[in-house]
Amino acid sequence: MDINMDVTTNKFTGKQKLEYTNNSPDTLYKLFYHLYWNAFQPNSMMDQKSLRLGATRLNDQPDWDPRVKDRISKLTPDEIGYQNISSLRMNGVNQKFRIEETIMEVFLTKPIPPKATVVLNMDFDAQVPKQIRRAGRDAANGVRFSMSQWYPKLSEYDRNGWDVTPYVEREFYGVWGDFDVTINIDKSYILGGTGYIMNPQEVGYGYEKEGTKVKPPAGNKLKWHFTANNVHDFMWAADPDYKHLIYKTPNGIDIHVLYRTDPVEQWDEIGEVVAGVFPFIEKNFGTYPYKQFSVIQGGDGAMEYAMSTLVATPRLGSVLHELMHSWYQGVIANNESVYPWMDEGFAEWSTDRVQYYFQEVIQRKKLASNPGSIKILDSLARGMPKYHAEHYAAYQTLVKSGIEEPLSTQADEYETRTGYILSTYSKGAIFLSQLGYIAGEETLGKIMLQYYKEWKFKHPGVDDFLRVAEKVSGLQLDWYKDYWVTTTKHIDYAIDSLWEEGNKTLIRMKKHGEVPMPIDLQVTYKDSTKEIAYVPMYLMFGEKPVEDKSIPTTSFPAWKWTHPTYVVSVNKKLSAIKTIEIDPSLRMADVDRKNNKLDIPF
Ligand SMILES: [Zn+2]
Repeated sequence: MDINMDVTTNKFTGKQKLEYTNNSPDTLYKLFYHLYWNAFQPNSMMDQKSLRLGATRLNDQPDWDPRVKDRISKLTPDEIGYQNISSLRMNGVNQKFRIEETIMEVFLTKPIPPKATVVLNMDFDAQVPKQIRRAGRDAANGVRFSMSQWYPKLSEYDRNGWDVTPYVEREFYGVWGDFDVTINIDKSYILGGTGYIMNPQEVGYGYEKEGTKVKPPAGNKLKWHFTANNVHDFMWAADPDYKHLIYKTPNGIDIHVLYRTDPVEQWDEIGEVVAGVFPFIEKNFGTYPYKQFSVIQGGDGAMEYAMSTLVATPRLGSVLHELMHSWYQGVIANNESVYPWMDEGFAEWSTDRVQYYFQEVIQRKKLASNPGSIKILDSLARGMPKYHAEHYAAYQTLVKSGIEEPLSTQADEYETRTGYILSTYSKGAIFLSQLGYIAGEETLGKIMLQYYKEWKFKHPGVDDFLRVAEKVSGLQLDWYKDYWVTTTKHIDYAIDSLWEEGNKTLIRMKKHGEVPMPIDLQVTYKDSTKEIAYVPMYLMFGEKPVEDKSIPTTSFPAWKWTHPTYVVSVNKKLSAIKTIEIDPSLRMADVDRKNNKLDIPF
């Protein structure tokens, strides 16, 4: 793409040349493109959806995104966003197209057979919308241009056919490709974005080789030449006041930080931490396939893009969440409209672990010389989940709220914004954490690495993940998807009763909820020793390995989900027992924890 930006009118013209190979087994008679910025116009689908959410009141608050509200309905002609296509040629021949708001449908003069490559040349122009959501200009925090979802973007054709999801509220899905983007913009602007800068000696601003002289070209404009291979999106941002910090991870990945006005310490910490946690992330979740990651101050919230993120404020938690999206969205690119919970949930789950690592390992080491700081850290860690307590709490809120919808709901089709957030982020994170309970923590780690290895750059769906999990664990797991993803059924197990028979104590458990689960029942004796009775669930056709070898564990025959109760026994008298607890690890999202534990008072 060759882009010519006019910073005085906030408009640009662009030429896009796309070499497109049909890797599918099907002949393509049409193409579709996304024109995201057409959403920022009064009466667009995004506008109407936001107004509708605003009319829904939850806890006496409108349910809309506070950034969007009714702002789209009030945009004036020079504040709206648009992408205007003046021509599209395939192999030099003009193509007819029809634009329906954010989707453009192209009627090909000649079909594209399997394995064929065509060249698509497009001329377009666009107006940068006033910052409403994700992209835009002149945001409340002063950022001039957040250029995401900014170019006419070819839709993905996959095993489910064309992805023609209009831009209503949620995020994106795209075709893998090699990008070569040149942006011509006023010399005073500093840019950051998805790709590597190919002409650092011309642009300078800290991109030049250290200690060398920058040779800017004559004229008022500067040409920024970026390339990025094997990405499914390209974002950039520009501001005359950006400051540029650079860090390196231990294995040489460049971390760029671009920010405007906050105290440097806050952004410096972000850069340090991101560079510092990279080895932990790569070891646990897979190798990062690029040589660069950029944290760029953008106009609102926080949002993930290829090799980069836009964040409005230097908040470490959100930066780490967006960084983890480089794995669960950037490289494992689920269709985010269909599987929003696999992006948000997996990103949240892994972020919790990265944060825990940061607090416990990096911070603790750093503060070792100052015992007072460690005390503060200990209290922080106590308030922190090991690992995901806040997501379990959010899930309980969701269950009680009455607005729960299945995780399989299409992202834009959730009735409430609150329900979408609690479901995709929290119930989605619990999907993995609870899988650790079902299959064992160590096995879960192996599943995540294998999933990345097998499915990077391939757009997997939930069944692909599940097959990896089954093969790695040796367990049958289809039931877990059925219940946790496609229904809003709940888990509730209870200790029902106990009695003595000879020298044994028998403990009867009861299944109150609809979702069947394996059971870790922990018995703690008065002499402080412990024992676990493990009851696999029938549909697993297998058992998880013993997780804590320091506690004696007895495995019982599987519990069939049709059977409401199950009895286990321990070889000690009732008088020796102090407490009995179902799932002491708290990883099972039981909706009523009170009946999971029994203290024996005598
Ligand atoms: Zn996210």
